[in-house]
Amino acid sequence: MIAVLAGGVGAARFLQGLVRVVDPKDIKVIVNTADDIDIYGVHVSPDVDIVTYTLAGVVDEDRGWGIKGDTFNFVESLARFGLENWFKLGDMDLATCFYRTMLMKKGFSLTEATHRICRALNVEVEILPMTDHSVQTYVETDIGVIHIQEYMVKYRCEPSILGVEFKGIGEAEATAEVLEALEGCSGVIVCPSNPVISIGPILSVKGIRDKLRGASYPKVAVTPIIAGAPVKGPADKFMRFLGVEVSPYGVAWLYRDFLDGLVVDIRDSIQTVRIEKLGIKTLATDTLMRSIEDKVRLAKAALNLMEIS
Ligand code: GDP
Repeated sequence: MIAVLAGGVGAARFLQGLVRVVDPKDIKVIVNTADDIDIYGVHVSPDVDIVTYTLAGVVDEDRGWGIKGDTFNFVESLARFGLENWFKLGDMDLATCFYRTMLMKKGFSLTEATHRICRALNVEVEILPMTDHSVQTYVETDIGVIHIQEYMVKYRCEPSILGVEFKGIGEAEATAEVLEALEGCSGVIVCPSNPVISIGPILSVKGIRDKLRGASYPKVAVTPIIAGAPVKGPADKFMRFLGVEVSPYGVAWLYRDFLDGLVVDIRDSIQTVRIEKLGIKTLATDTLMRSIEDKVRLAKAALNLMEIS
């Protein structure tokens, strides 16, 4: 069994390749929940849903999130009452979030709610929220302290980043399911996800980073940075804020205490020597996922690196 650490879109696209080379029943995905937000009366778990919809084959591939063919009548209608509706949640998506909220109000954990949603959508991969505790990322900016969704969706990543806080992380413990996945797996893959605000919170949950550091199985990652920039999203802004170089070397640096191998892009092969000096093996390939063939190739590269790490 392989355990995978995942954010949203980058991770989901990588997983589309992985499930074609590894039996989905042998994959457990530990997903960031610090992007979660309580809004419109429901609990939205964006990364969990992106991964779930993608593996269920119902994701809106153009956007990378939400359900294909979804309508937005609910959020659009909120404007009638003068209510804020900047968080775009489709009508079908709202039903998922409503179901999750209903289960959680009945006392089920986020893990159990996720399990039931996956079962309903015929997802064979086990999708595990990183924790059942509430953790939410807040960004301190030049316009104030705002929720990560406000930063990304409402303000389109424009405000300057002055600080990042994973609220609730101090109390957050890894679930039994997550610990079991990290104990029983034959290797870990860190997806090409934002290393600061997607993978960062997972690694900050009590118990997870220590498990990875102490494990004897190989731990490899796929770079989300190609030629000095993320493919999409604000990873560069968050890395810069931390004073970390925006490059695969910077990614390796952030994971250096537990990582054995990093898949870097062929455009960055010049960096492999520096990365290997950190004690991290490298494999250079085209990491840009345009087609399903690209995704399969990238998954195979990560597995190959795992074998030699
Ligand atoms: P988010 O929470 O939806 O932003 O999702 P993630 O954190 O999983 O994904 C964002 C990261 O995925 C960004 O840093 C992107 O650079 C990376 N990413 C997206 N598409 C690709 C791709 O085709 N190749 C690689 N190497 N990285 C990608």
